[in-house]
Amino acid sequence: DFKMLQINAVKKTCVQPLKSPNKIRVFQWNVLSQSLGTTNDSFVCCPEDALEWGNRRYQIVQEILEYAPDVICLQEVDHFNFLKACLETQGYTGTFFPKPDSPCLYLDGNNGPDGCALFYRREKFDFVKSDTRVLEVWRVQSNQVAVVAVLRVRETGREFLVAGTHLKARKGALLSTLRNEQGKDLLDFVHSSAEGRPVILCGDFNAEPTEPIYRTVLGYPGLNLGSAYADFSPNKDVPSMDREPPYTTWKVRDEGEVCHTIDYVFYNKDAFVVNAVLQFPTSDDIGEGRVPSYQYPSDHFSLCCDFRFQDQEKTGQ
Ligand code: NDP
Ligand code: CA
Repeated sequence: DFKMLQINAVKKTCVQPLKSPNKIRVFQWNVLSQSLGTTNDSFVCCPEDALEWGNRRYQIVQEILEYAPDVICLQEVDHFNFLKACLETQGYTGTFFPKPDSPCLYLDGNNGPDGCALFYRREKFDFVKSDTRVLEVWRVQSNQVAVVAVLRVRETGREFLVAGTHLKARKGALLSTLRNEQGKDLLDFVHSSAEGRPVILCGDFNAEPTEPIYRTVLGYPGLNLGSAYADFSPNKDVPSMDREPPYTTWKVRDEGEVCHTIDYVFYNKDAFVVNAVLQFPTSDDIGEGRVPSYQYPSDHFSLCCDFRFQDQEKTGQ
């Protein structure tokens, strides 16, 4: 019974579906690719059978549905057809864009490439358009991608763009520069696709708040983005990067514990107010072996944010 595996100690601020057409719940999660997680990641404290797909896949679906999101952005998806089949029965429609040369393809027993997936609640939104991009660095395609969708709230006619991405992983000054360049290309793409509509930008940016990409996102002209978790924090007197949560991923590898914040939900501050964010499990909740584990199917935690449309949009576009 996979329900028994769920932690109860997590404080959930949002479990009922949002009724109001003026509110949108956005869910962002790097689900951990099945191929990478089982053969490439070497999580030294995670029991092998905790990653067994037959069980883990339902934990992933449950984690998503538990929060009744309106929009779902996922990374490292290498079982899109399974997720699509499950989520379609629950009222969602989704699209998927694979990485051009996904590392999954080189792993034994892989299920195809991993990539970014985006789902939305059919009942709440009309689909306006979607687009995908292989992110470019100095005009050359990289191995990272983004997917965007423009949605219209049925009841009000208000439109917005939601985007999901997964930037290049790993540490180093060069890689931090590369992520910043990918981010600039992503922001250009998002800005032109949005055509003046407000933007919500989710992803695993693989960058701590101190990296250049974080400032690039917040400073991008014409989008006026803020970080939802940072802006929801009560401490308003410090810069955004100092208000981010302490971690969005926490794992144990050979080299030790990796505990940092690299996943974000950015939003247009003129159009939206952050009403609630889902708290992350504490150190005690997750236990010494960290994640993934029997309780948590990914090494990343899910981010979930409730946005309210501002009464009067002043987009400045
Ligand atoms: P990235 O560098 O972006 O990383 C790919 C995945 O590896 C990410 O999903 C990332 O997860 C995960 N990852 C990050 N750090 C570690 C770590 N320390 N140990 C294990 N996994 C980690 O990959 P690219 O898409 O740019 O592809 C490049 C990589 O793919 C190369 O490093 C190569 O190993 C592999 N590859 C191999 C090929 C071959 O065998 N011929 C061909 C193409 C690629 P997260 O985002 O959660 O950190
Ligand atoms: Ca990963």
